[in-house]
Formats: sequence, structure tokens, C-alpha cells
Amino acid sequence: MSLTVIKATLKSGSFRQHKKNPKGNTLIYSRNHPTEKFVRIVVDSGIDKNTGKIVSQPSVSSVFININKHWRQIVSAHKGANLQGLITVVESKACSAAKCKHCGAKKFKAKSGNVVCANACWTKWSGNKKKTTQKTTQKTSEKKPQKNPPEIKAQKKTQKKSQKIIARAITANRQRKATKKLQEKWSINLQPGDLVTVEEFSKDNHKANDYSGKILGIVASVDSDSVYGNIKVQWTVNTSSLEEWELPKHAIEHRYNHSVSSWNRFKVISRKSDWVKA
Ligand SMILES: [Zn+2]
Repeated sequence: MSLTVIKATLKSGSFRQHKKNPKGNTLIYSRNHPTEKFVRIVVDSGIDKNTGKIVSQPSVSSVFININKHWRQIVSAHKGANLQGLITVVESKACSAAKCKHCGAKKFKAKSGNVVCANACWTKWSGNKKKTTQKTTQKTSEKKPQKNPPEIKAQKKTQKKSQKIIARAITANRQRKATKKLQEKWSINLQPGDLVTVEEFSKDNHKANDYSGKILGIVASVDSDSVYGNIKVQWTVNTSSLEEWELPKHAIEHRYNHSVSSWNRFKVISRKSDWVKA
């Protein structure tokens, strides 16, 4: 496959070049999967970063970007002469890759060899084992002769019913508390024309990194109907080490309390607008 064909295929497929290749010296490209959420198609072009010459056949794989922004490979590398063909095969394999039945994330093969949820959602189950809801059947000392039997029966029935209702309310409340603990909703007001940069926010809510002066963009559009507050930004400057896909895209972010990493978010520089925790 010629250099021209590889480059043309990547361009027509809207692939973006990565700044880094942690595994070698060849140029890496990626883009979102056309239909699968949080899934990217990754191409190792086989083009040497320094010489610009082909040093190996292109290979294509697919990853799921998990809740902590880590890449989990869901389709292993497919190597061959026909790049477009490889992309098509890997895309369709990514579609049919197994999903976690608990949270819907794709599954991947962990170092242990086990195929597990890419979001490691089981880690948030721990300590959440349903404490066998105490049976609220108090043994009321039954002094039979005081009341006539049908009356006792009726009373017991209402008692049981109200106990059931209370137990249900307690469970619902506990579940609500658990989800509240699990998730924080952050949002920021963004308007078209806002000048933005990026800041890294640590998992314990401290500014870990400010990219002012390294990253600059102009908000092009705001989709306020979307759940995540989808934002389109015209990025004009990026001299940071962040890749294009690592730049923020949302004005609404949900953070989970089991998140282990920091997150990159918008910072407005043309006016005062800050993130607020709902
Ligand atoms: Zn899961």
C-alpha cells in the first residue's frame, strides 16, 4: 500500500494524528466509531514518524474509553495491506464486542486474562451488598382473649401493610443516597463566542493544571438540549501535550466517586463563568 493511499484513506475517514506513540516510532491516528459510544478506531499507519517512510503494514484496532478516560482495547490489532478493509472489519467487530450487562460498557480482556467490564463497574458494588433488609415482623405478644379474633386479624393486616410501606421507603431512600454519593453533576454556562482554554481538575476537586497560554479555542455552538451539554469548539492553539480527543466537549459533566483520575474541563477566559456543582 502506498503512502499516498494510506494518507488519503486516513484523511477521508477524518482520522486525527496523535502526538505520541508510546509503543513505537510510527504515526498513530484515531477517530470516534461512527455509531458506538465511547469507542474509537485506532490506526497504526506503519509510517515512520522521523523518515516519513513506510516501515510496516498498517494495523487497526479499537478501544473503549472508560469512565476514567483510560483506553481499553476491545478489538485487537488487525494488520494487512488494505487499510480501508481493516477499518471496516474492526468497526463491525467493535459493534458486536461484548457489553457489560450491568452498566452497558464494552468488555475487554484484562491483564488477568479475564474478560471484564471496561468501566470496572463491579468496584462500586463493594460494600453495597444488600444488608438483608431486616424482617420487620415484630412478634407482638399475643394475648389472645382480649380481643375477638377478626379484629386482631384486621389489625395485624394493617400493621403488616404499613411496615411494608415503611420498609419500601427506607430502601428507596437508601438507594437515592447511594446514587447521590455515586455521582456529582457539574455544569458551566458557555455561550457561542466565549474564549476558552482547558483546566485539569483533580478527582478531589483541586485545579491540578491550567492550560491558559497553551490551549485556546472559541465556542462555536452550544447544544443545550443534550444531556451532556454538547459544545463545539474551534480550537485555534494547542501547544500542550493533550491530544485533540482529550480536549473537553461538554458543559455538563457527571463525576463518579470511584473515579480515580482527574478530568479536563473548559475554562472561560473572556468573561466570568465558573463550574458549579449541582
Ligand atoms: Zn460494567
